Amino acid sequence: VVQSEEGQILSVKIAADGQWRFPVIDSLPPTYEQCLLEFEDKHFYKHPGVNPFALLRATVQNIRSRKIVSGGSTISMQCIRIAKGNPKRNLWIKCLEMFQAIRLELKYSKAEILRLYASIAPFGGNIVGLEAASWRYFGRNSEQLSIAETATLAVLPNAPALIYPGKNQKELIAKRNRLLKRLFESKKIDEQTLDLALDEPVPSRIYTIIREAPHLLDRIVSEGGNGQRIRTSLDYDLQLKVNGLANRYHNVLHQNEIHNLAVLVLDLQNGEVKSYCGNSNCSDEEVGQSVDLIQAKRSSGSILKPFLYHGMIRDGMILPYTLLPDIPTNFGGYAPKNFDERFDGAVHADEALARSLNVPAVRSLQEYGIEKLHKELNELGLTSIDNSPSHYGLSLILGGAETRLFELCEAYMNLARSISDLKPIHASYKCGTTELESSRNYNFDRGAAWWTAEALKSLNRPESEQGWKLFSSSQKIAWKTGTSFGFRDAWSIGFNSRYLVGVWIGNADGEGRPGLTGTNTAAPLMFNVFKELETQDWFDKPMGSLKAIEVCKKSGYKAQANCIETELKSFPRNSNKSRICPYHEEIHLDEQQMNRVHGNCYPVNKIRRVKWFILPAVQAYYYRTVNPSFEPLPDYKSGCNPTDSRSMEMIYPTEDSRIKIPKNLDESLSKLILQLSHLNNSTRVYWHLDEKYLGSTLGEHTFEILPKIGSHVLSCVDENGETIDVEFDIIQ
Ligand SMILES: [Zn+2]
Repeated sequence: VVQSEEGQILSVKIAADGQWRFPVIDSLPPTYEQCLLEFEDKHFYKHPGVNPFALLRATVQNIRSRKIVSGGSTISMQCIRIAKGNPKRNLWIKCLEMFQAIRLELKYSKAEILRLYASIAPFGGNIVGLEAASWRYFGRNSEQLSIAETATLAVLPNAPALIYPGKNQKELIAKRNRLLKRLFESKKIDEQTLDLALDEPVPSRIYTIIREAPHLLDRIVSEGGNGQRIRTSLDYDLQLKVNGLANRYHNVLHQNEIHNLAVLVLDLQNGEVKSYCGNSNCSDEEVGQSVDLIQAKRSSGSILKPFLYHGMIRDGMILPYTLLPDIPTNFGGYAPKNFDERFDGAVHADEALARSLNVPAVRSLQEYGIEKLHKELNELGLTSIDNSPSHYGLSLILGGAETRLFELCEAYMNLARSISDLKPIHASYKCGTTELESSRNYNFDRGAAWWTAEALKSLNRPESEQGWKLFSSSQKIAWKTGTSFGFRDAWSIGFNSRYLVGVWIGNADGEGRPGLTGTNTAAPLMFNVFKELETQDWFDKPMGSLKAIEVCKKSGYKAQANCIETELKSFPRNSNKSRICPYHEEIHLDEQQMNRVHGNCYPVNKIRRVKWFILPAVQAYYYRTVNPSFEPLPDYKSGCNPTDSRSMEMIYPTEDSRIKIPKNLDESLSKLILQLSHLNNSTRVYWHLDEKYLGSTLGEHTFEILPKIGSHVLSCVDENGETIDVEFDIIQ
C-alpha cells in the first residue's frame, strides 16, 4: 500500500496469493471495535481467550436446532481458526483452538489480538482484512466510515462466503440492522443515529482499485517494499492534479501518436518527491504503459547545457554575458547546427543557453574539456552516462548521452539548492533530507549557480513562435528544455526557490514524432504544473559569493581601455581570471570619420582615433543579419586599401539566371550543382540558400542542392568575411 504524506492511499497492489490484504494497521477505529465486540465477542476484555458461557450457550443452541448455528468462538479463537485456514469443525479441533487461543492471549495484548483479527478476517471474495474491505466496499479508510458502514464490515466476516455485497443483499442488511439495534439497546448509539443508520444502503459493488501512483508503487515493490504500507512524501492533492493534467495533455498528444509522458515534482528544501507520474494512462495496448519513464534512460537533448554553463562561469572561463562565436564550425568532421539552422555570428553566453544554441555549446565544451564535463555529470549523479568520454565526444552536450528524468531532476535540484548555500542531497519519495554520499562531491559555485538560474529565467527561447509565452506566468521560474535527435524525446525542467518540476514526453518505444520538442510539448505541461504550486519568491542574490568587476557592456568580457561602455557587475569570484574584451579596438579614420585610413596614405595629424566594436569577418557576416544596428568596419578610403581585390567568383549559377531542372528517367528532379572559385586554396567558404545554412567547402567549392520552383538567393561567405550573393529562378 502506497500512501501520501497525509496517509491517503495512492496505489495498492494485490498480494502474490491473489488476495487483497492490507498490511496491519496501527490502531482500530473505536466504532469498529464497538461493533465487532457487540457482534462477535461481548466479553472479549473479560475472558482469557475462551468464554465458557458462550460455548455452553452455543452448544445448547446447536442441540436445539440440530445443526451448527453458533460456534461460541471468541475473537481469539477465530484468529486461530483463520490463521489455520478454516479447518473442518470437530470437537478435537475446537479443543485445540481453545488451547491455542489461551496461548495467544498470554503472548499478546487484547489490542494486538483485535488488530490481528481485523487484519486477517475474510470479507468475501478475495478481500482480507478491515482496511482492504473498507477501501474495496466504500472507497475510504476505515476511520472515515459511518456507523452503518462500520457495522456492515463488522458482520461480514461471520459468513463471508454466504453474504457479501452484491450477493444476498437482504440478508446482509438484516444482519447489519440486528447489530445496529443491539448497539442501540446497549446504549452505544442514540435513537436518531440508529434511524439514520438503518436507512443507509449496503454496498452493492466493489470499488476499483486506486491507481494514482502506479509506477511509484512498482518502484517501491522492486526496491523491496512488497507487503508493506509505505507512507511516501507525495502530496495527495498535487498528485491528483498532476495526474489530471497528464491526462489532459495525453489526450491532445495522443492525436499526434505521442503516447507517453512523465512528470516529477520535487521539494528543493528536503529533496522530497511531491508528485510522481511515471507515465500517461493511455488506454491503447502495446504503448509501454508499464514503463516508468521517470526512471527510463532517454536521450538527453540539450538538457545538460546548464551544467556546462555553470562550470565555465565557476572556473572563470566565461562571464555570464560573454559573447561567444555562433558561426558554422567543423570539429574534425562533426558540424553541429542550431535548431533553426541559422547562425547569430556572435551571441551572449546567457542568451545562447536560454535559446539553447548548439554551436556555442559545442565550442564551449571543446574549450571546457569533454572528460571534465563527463566526470562532473557523473558526480552530479547521472549514472546512465556510463560510457567513456571519447564514446560521446562533443555530442555529449547535444544529446549524445542518455539520462533518467529522476536523476536529472536531482542534479537540477542540487544546482538550485547551491544558490541558497544548501548541501547536495538525494531526491527521494521517502520523507526527509538524505545527504549525498561523499563520493559525489560535485563542485557547485554559489555565484555561478545564481547566474545560471538568472540565464534560465530569461524569456528568450527557441522556436519563439510557439505558445510557451502563454504559459510563462507571473512566477519567476528558471527552466530549460531539451529535444533529442529525431524528435524522440521532449524535456523540460524548471525550478523556483522551493519547487522543481521535471517533464518528459515521447514514446516509450522511442518513435519520434514531428513537433515533439521540449518547448512545444514539455514546457507547457511544466508551466501548468507550476500553476498548481504555491508562488515563491526568487532566490536572494548571494552577494557574499559575488564580487564587483568592470565589464564591457557590449561583449560581456572583462573591460579593457578600448571598450566603449563599461559597467560594474556582481559576478562570481573566478571572473577576474577570465580574458579581457577582444572585440574593442582603436581604428584610424579620416577627418570626416567616414573611411579608414593609415599613416602611409593620409596626413597623420588629420587621422581620428576611434574606438570600434570589431567582430572577426565571418562572425560579422552573420551578426549583421540579426543585429541591424551593427556598424561594420568602415571601408578604406580609396587609395588606402591594402587588399583591393576580390578573391571569390561565382561560376554557377550566375546572377539572375533562369534554370530549368531536367527530370531523371524515374521522373524525379535531378540535382543542381552550385560552383564557385576562390583564389586562396586554404580558405573555407560557407554556403547559404535563402538564408539557410547549407554547409562549408574547402579546396573544391561545389555544392549539390534540390531547389524548389521559384526565386532563390544564394549567399557565400569566406573566412575573411568576403561575400557573394546571387539571385536565380528555378522554372518549371
Ligand atoms: Zn569591449
